[in-house]
Amino acid sequence: MTTRREPRHQQPKRARVRWTVAVPIVALLAGVLTVASPPGTASAAVPRVAQTWSSLMYHSLTPSPEYVQLRKTLAAQRSSLTARIAQVTQGRATQAAAQIGLAPAVTADAAARTRYAGAREALGTATNTLTVVSLQRPHNAAAVAAAKQAVAAASATAGTYRAQAGQTGTALKSVLTTARTATTNLDNAIVAWQTAHARVVASHQKLVELDKKMAGYAGQAAAISRTVVTEIRPRFVYADSTTVYGVRVHKNVAYAFRRMLDDAKASGIVLSGGGFRTKQRQIELRKINGCPDIWTAPASSCRVPTAIPGRSLHEIGLAVDITSGGRSLTANSPAFKWMAAYARRYGFVNLPSEPWHWSITGG
Ligand SMILES: [Zn+2]
Repeated sequence: MTTRREPRHQQPKRARVRWTVAVPIVALLAGVLTVASPPGTASAAVPRVAQTWSSLMYHSLTPSPEYVQLRKTLAAQRSSLTARIAQVTQGRATQAAAQIGLAPAVTADAAARTRYAGAREALGTATNTLTVVSLQRPHNAAAVAAAKQAVAAASATAGTYRAQAGQTGTALKSVLTTARTATTNLDNAIVAWQTAHARVVASHQKLVELDKKMAGYAGQAAAISRTVVTEIRPRFVYADSTTVYGVRVHKNVAYAFRRMLDDAKASGIVLSGGGFRTKQRQIELRKINGCPDIWTAPASSCRVPTAIPGRSLHEIGLAVDITSGGRSLTANSPAFKWMAAYARRYGFVNLPSEPWHWSITGG
């Protein structure tokens, strides 16, 4: 537990400057170390249950090749879906335009047919008149000539209207074909969109399941974390710890801790903190934090809650007092909110009475 009032780093000034420069190298080494020796192959002194915890966290935080592939597939499927949606939108616009063109073509064709029918009727009437006038006796040459002219004029008009009706008919057919094609294209685009959508949904569902499986590993690790503490406590030696971005933690939690800091940073939250501390330092803190006595008074009886020496998870590198921007986390800080939302995924649980104190058990 706790070090709210503890200076973050206990090194003398000269050492601190050197330490700052060394951080990237240490971080790099920590990275290499973790990659080179995955959990499960840790030192023989480390209890099996602790190795299991590390291995579970490793699987919780390391996407399987299937997961990685699925994410790529999903990205491709999503962009395909976007293209399909664009096609449906385009198809709808084309179809709407075709529909708009259809009505005037139908009207124009109907009008042209009506005109042509009228002209044919007029031609029939003129022809009948010519027959009647031709049969009249005595023969009226002027009337016959006039009737013939009327027939010729009606015939010319009927010819013109017939040609116009032919044109509007052809135009109507063409517009109808365009409309049918547009409808077919739209139907096909909708089917393609539905197919693409179904693929995205299926892949997403699969990814959610794989994600659950990964979260399940973290859950299994959490379930054994108390045993990890019990097993590590009596065997812990300083060599079992390592430094992650300047924070000394147990090697078994180093990978998960590093991933947590990396992912937080990627979300704009820069985390650091104080991890391992010696029993001697814990005894000093009991004094500094005004505990009624060193060895028996409960942590809560100190000015700042401070565990009895020998009981703090800091002494075995399994707890970290998290800082952000050089300050201990407070309950409403963005860094705390990030931790509250995600830390469990990295195997870290908060001790509710101390927003800054995070460990593998929450103790
Ligand atoms: Zn603490």
